[in-house]
Amino acid sequence: MPVTGLPPYDPANIFARILRREIPAKLVHEDDFALAFHDINPQAPVHVLVIPKGAYVSQADFASQASDAEIAGFWRAVATVAKALGLEAPGYRTLSNMGRDAGQEVPHFHVHIFGGKPLGRMVVVD
Ligand code: 5GP
Repeated sequence: MPVTGLPPYDPANIFARILRREIPAKLVHEDDFALAFHDINPQAPVHVLVIPKGAYVSQADFASQASDAEIAGFWRAVATVAKALGLEAPGYRTLSNMGRDAGQEVPHFHVHIFGGKPLGRMVVVD
């Protein structure tokens, strides 16, 4: 059971379908723990999503339910992907939306990697 206010994991969510290769994505990385692909609606010159291979709805679900190996492998993949994209020297931003107030759209835990230009202020709150 996910520990968040979100509904249980929906295996029909769009990222689960990308993991099963039911719909295409521009892949940039795959290993035992993570898949990374370009966001379909990029918000920066480089905008890549990194997702764990396991079925976790959110950051809270992942942190509480995933094994240590999955957690370590996933976060290593995030850094590996950023480096492979050439973002380590100029810098980059990672972001994860968790639940309603953050506007999480896809209920499969994911980390956004943004880069390719100076990214401006960290967060704009209306
Ligand atoms: P969230 O708001 O859940 O943190 O972000 C979900 C992200 O998934 C959005 O940036 C959105 O553009 C991206 N996205 C939604 N559907 C697809 C898809 O079918 N393919 C890819 N590559 N990205 C998607």
